[in-house]
Amino acid sequence: MGINIALDGPSGAGKSTIAKLAAKKLGYVYVDTGAMYRSIAYHALENGADLSDEAQVTEQLDGLKIELTYIDGSQAVLVNGVNVSDKIRTPEVSMGASQVSKVPAVREFLLDTQRDIAKANDIIMDGRDIGTVVLPDAQVKLFLTASAEERANRRFKELQEKGDPSTYEEVLADINQRDYNDTHRDIAPLRQAEDAQLIDSTSMTIDEVVDAIVKAAEACSDSLKKKSEQVSEDGEEKKSRRNRTIMPVHPISRDKKINPVRQFFYNILRPIVIFVFKLMYDIHYEGIENVPKNGGNIFASNHRSYADPVFIALHARVPISYMAKEELFNGNKAFALLIKAFGAFPVVRGSGDTAVIDTAVEKLESGRNLVIFPEGTRSKDGKVGKGKTGVALIAAVAQTTVVPVGINFEGEKLAKRKKVVVRYGKPVEPSDVGVSGTDAASLKKMKKEIMDRISSLVY
Ligand code: C5P
Repeated sequence: MGINIALDGPSGAGKSTIAKLAAKKLGYVYVDTGAMYRSIAYHALENGADLSDEAQVTEQLDGLKIELTYIDGSQAVLVNGVNVSDKIRTPEVSMGASQVSKVPAVREFLLDTQRDIAKANDIIMDGRDIGTVVLPDAQVKLFLTASAEERANRRFKELQEKGDPSTYEEVLADINQRDYNDTHRDIAPLRQAEDAQLIDSTSMTIDEVVDAIVKAAEACSDSLKKKSEQVSEDGEEKKSRRNRTIMPVHPISRDKKINPVRQFFYNILRPIVIFVFKLMYDIHYEGIENVPKNGGNIFASNHRSYADPVFIALHARVPISYMAKEELFNGNKAFALLIKAFGAFPVVRGSGDTAVIDTAVEKLESGRNLVIFPEGTRSKDGKVGKGKTGVALIAAVAQTTVVPVGINFEGEKLAKRKKVVVRYGKPVEPSDVGVSGTDAASLKKMKKEIMDRISSLVY
């Protein structure tokens, strides 16, 4: 990874002017993430979409390609191959960007692109959530702000130079509205990262701010050099990182009792779904005696088909919860309701925060069982892939039982009347394998134990 500088702040704080100049001085790539949100707004407006309607905005992402390229040293943004760099700077598109940036599918759509650019280059990336969500590990984090009046003043002058007829009052109202939108949205709201340095540019010159950034980047690159020398000398740094606790342990209570209404519906629905599934598949269960009577367990399974959560739930004794991609909740409303009713809760992939772990622990605490597919994605050939650490982290934080599950059928796809064998393995608790914390070594041990147990149930 190169050096990543995350520059966040409200509209009109001068981020792009400053970032461009600092990037030039440092020889870094400047990445304007606002331009990406603007491009989506522009594209949606061109197609006549109503930007206040999440579903219409999400639809606009279908087949959309946003690229950042560099023409004569400046960043250009291409929408489906067309350079729209100038067209996205109007007040209408500014407000539109602020609207579409609230839509989870839009943020997810741009996240991977932004991270990929940062991985490959030394960069200064400006935006609203760079230090908090996009690049939480950026070596330098800055939060640039200025009073709303000063920001409106600067933007007003810029617009006047371009011949835009907006008045100062309109520009100020616009800035205030966008500040409100950006700080009050549910997902990735604008806020200063805890480890970001605050720069108030109200009474600073552009050069002073640029200098402050260049100095921070140079200091960082020196200290990175020193660190890598130190690490190769004695490996101490690595060791101390390995011992660091990732999240506090919060053991859930052991006599968890699920909400009786929920249990009642589960008990009624279960035989009906078993009946339907028996008609659809030649389904067999092994090891049902391994399933604990109470809830609050994690069922860690290999992942073969969309029906897996149901396969597991049928003999889980207590209703399940499971994580599903955020997009699934934003598409077809009936489908979203259905998966919610069957215990799904949304995860924003790559949002990098611990909120999803907290939600998972809450579900366990409420007495539900939690189904997790540690591979993160379905396996077509039936081989068990590498597991992600999340399952071990949830088990370690909640200090709860993990029931390994193996789902088996031949071939790639789950077809009608296919033989499906669902095996529940022997449950394991973190304490059985000496895991009482969430340091990297413990999580590695827990993950290995879980993955080995799943593999032993898959043929
Ligand atoms: O920075 P700029 O004014 O070009 O950004 C346009 C809009 O895009 C902002 O008002 C904000 O709502 C959104 N944005 C965002 N996250 C970013 C960058 C921009 O939500 N990282």
